[in-house]
Order: sequence, then structure tokens, then C-alpha cells
Amino acid sequence: MNFEPSPAEQALRTRLRGWLRANLPEVRSAAGHAKPHTPAEKVAFARRWQRKLHDGGWAGASWPREYGGQALTPLEQLAFAEECFAADAPDMIDIAIGLNLTGPTLIHHGTPAQKERFLAPILRGDHVWCQGFSEPGAGSDLAALRTSGNVRGDRIVVNGQKVWTSYAQHADWCILIVRTDPGATRHRGLTFVLLDMKTPGITIRPLVELTGLAWFNEVFFDNVEIPRDMVVGELHRGWDIAITTLSHERGTVVPYQRLQRHLDGIASLARRLGNARRSPARDPLVRQRLAQLAIDVELLRLSTYRSISGVTRSGRPGPEGSMLKLLWSELEQRMMDAASALSGAHAQLDEHAPQAHDAGRWQYAYLWSRAATIYAGTSEVQRNIIAQRVLGLPRG
Ligand SMILES: Cc1cc2nc3c(=O)[nH]c(=O)nc-3n(C[C@H](O)[C@H](O)[C@H](O)COP(=O)(O)OP(=O)(O)OC[C@H]3O[C@@H](n4cnc5c(N)ncnc54)[C@H](O)[C@@H]3O)c2cc1C
Repeated sequence: MNFEPSPAEQALRTRLRGWLRANLPEVRSAAGHAKPHTPAEKVAFARRWQRKLHDGGWAGASWPREYGGQALTPLEQLAFAEECFAADAPDMIDIAIGLNLTGPTLIHHGTPAQKERFLAPILRGDHVWCQGFSEPGAGSDLAALRTSGNVRGDRIVVNGQKVWTSYAQHADWCILIVRTDPGATRHRGLTFVLLDMKTPGITIRPLVELTGLAWFNEVFFDNVEIPRDMVVGELHRGWDIAITTLSHERGTVVPYQRLQRHLDGIASLARRLGNARRSPARDPLVRQRLAQLAIDVELLRLSTYRSISGVTRSGRPGPEGSMLKLLWSELEQRMMDAASALSGAHAQLDEHAPQAHDAGRWQYAYLWSRAATIYAGTSEVQRNIIAQRVLGLPRG
């Protein structure tokens, strides 16, 4: 495999680097501080950042040109992500449901009117979207969902509950799956709809997670009326649309640079801890552990390139995305375990405690990393997909 960038990719990198150099400082100073932290801060910051990207022509760069993107190839998308990371550009991943999930889903399946109405505001960052898929009895087994959608004339009347809905409290719109035909077989009776979050009858209750922040929510629907023209695809055929959304959720561009940065930080911590006589950086067991993590990061980087070659050939994300998701999410947890072990008793300190190592970065990242093997499909579910759809093994 040739790892040298093509002239087109090199030109893209140079153009993007210049743009980031010119625009990042302005965005950072507008935020008032370096890193937005709470969900509300992050949403406000991401809206501004996305508007900036849009004005520079960089928002949704992977989207087709006819919808305002730059039709970047998968390899160019990786170059885009690498340059943004190298410049320490803000991370959009947490609230990119509009850009990464809704946009591609509407581009594939939306009506001309839906595309006209929703795609441009997503690119500009005018609309924040949330994803109303999971329910108390339907997570991994999404087709078990029970939130009902009764078709009444030109409306669908929704009753029921979603859960773990990230950013629902800040969202303008929601991609929602409801059961419109309770008599049909599980996957057949579902409909994919676009819901205006200001519609009467919606109650949102934030859930506080392990880290102490409330990113996700319970969302209750009490006779919420959705116009029929907000159905994506056909009535009762929403499962096919959801599959498109989910295939984009696992992604092909994975955060291997973020993990490399974590690893550099952990190695630096090992060097700073201890004293001249006894330092973890000289402990053979610590060194072996960090060496293994370094090998794993390199494997992740190479697997990302391999996956991108596959997507370039097939034109769409496939089940191989599950391998990357499994690799990076479990590696991140192993890294945070290593950081906590190095920190010793300090690992228990809250990120604001003055004695915490590296301003408590490891404590927060350790707690947050628990979520990585759950969202976008748990590790067990990824292993099932790899077994059945990548390796062709029979169902367990
Ligand atoms: C931080 C975070 C943000 C999220 N944001 C959203 C969001 O915005 N919108 C949304 O809709 N959802 C969201 N989710 C929900 C997420 O998609 C679900 O948590 C996930 O799909 C797992 O579903 P569950 O929690 O119901 O667990 P369950 O499906 O009940 O699973 C429980 C356990 O059983 C295992 N298990 C289940 N089925 C199998 C099987 N067939 N084989 C082997 N083991 C199995 C699982 O791996 C898990 O360990 C979010 C979750 C997290 C953690």
C-alpha cells in the first residue's frame, strides 16, 4: 500500500491547514475559554464552529457537491480529520447527529422537499439534531421498540418513551423511529420520522451520567402530532432507513490520533511521576504496558487505512466499521485503565481537585470511556456483527 498522499490530497491538506491557521484563533477567543465542557457550552460552541466551517466551505465536506459538500473521497475525509486534529480544532463528534447521521440519511432517502428544507440548516449549524432510537426495552435489539405512531389522516400521533437521547434538551429536531403497524412483523411495522422538538406533548428529563454531566435524556411523548410529510421513505418501512443511519454511525474515520495523544500524555505522566530513584517510566511492567498500547494505536491507524480502502471500493460504510468501533473503544478503555493505575490514589480525585494529575484529565476520560463500548452498538453486538456479516459464521 502506498501511504504517500496524492497531489490532490496534498493540495487539500495545504488548503485546509491555511484555513485552520487563519480561523481557529478567532473561534477560540469567541468561546471565551479554550475547551467548552458542559453540554450547553459545547452546543453553543459547536454551532459557532460549524457556522465558521460552513462559511469557509468546509462543513459537510464529505457530502455530494449538489448538497453543499465537497464530495471528499474517504481518503480525503481522513486527511481532513487528521489536519483538524493536528491543528487541535474543536471536536464535533458528540453533536454531529445532523451532519453525520441525518444529512446522509436524507441525502439517500429524503424527499426533494425534505432535502430542500433540512440539509442547508444542518450544514450551517442552524439546527441541532438528536437521535430518538433507543427505548427502555429496545437498545441493542432496536426492532423491539414500542413507541407508537398512530396514523390519523395527514398526521402521525406519537405516544411512548425514548431514552439515552443525547442532546435532546438542546435539539431543534429529532430523527425518530416509531411503530406504526403493531400487527406487522417486528422490522416491518416501523416508520422513520423527523420531529420538531418544539411540538407540544414532548417532555425531556436529563439523566446525569457517571461523569456528573447530563448529556443524554429520557424523552416522553404524549399525543405528539407529526405531519405525514415528515416521514422519511415509506410508511412502515422505516427499518431500511434506520439501517442507513446506523451504518454511518460507526463510521470509517476513527479517532486514532486522539488515542495517540492520550498515549503521549500517559507516557509523559509516567516520566513525571516518582523520583530519581524510583520512577514508573523505568518500571519494566509499566514500560511493557505502554509499549503494547503503542502497538495497538499503530494497529488501529493501519486498520483505519484498510477500512478506508474498503469503503473507497464499495462506496459505502459496511459491517467492517464494527471492527474499528470495537478496536478503538476497547483500546481507549485499556488506556484509561493504564492512566488510572499510574495515577494511583490520585485517580480518585475529581477533575477540579488541585492535587489531581494533569488537571484531572484522566479521571474524567476514564469515566467517559465506559460509554464508548455502549453507544453506537455495544462490544457484544459488534462481535456478533463481525462474526455473522464479516466472517460469515452462523448465528450463535
Ligand atoms: C453516551 C451514550 C449516548 C447515547 N446516545 C444515544 C442517542 O443519542 N440516541 C439513542 O437512540 N441512543 C443513544 N444511546 C443508547 C445506546 O445506543 C444503547 O445504550 C445501546 O444500543 C445499548 O442498548 P441498551 O442500553 O438498551 O442495552 P441492552 O441492549 O439492554 O444490552 C445490555 C447488555 O446485554 C448485551 N447484549 C444485548 N444483546 C446482545 C446479544 N444479542 N448478544 C450478546 N450480548 C447482548 C449488551 O452488549 C449489553 O452488555 C447512547 C448510549 C450512551 C452510552
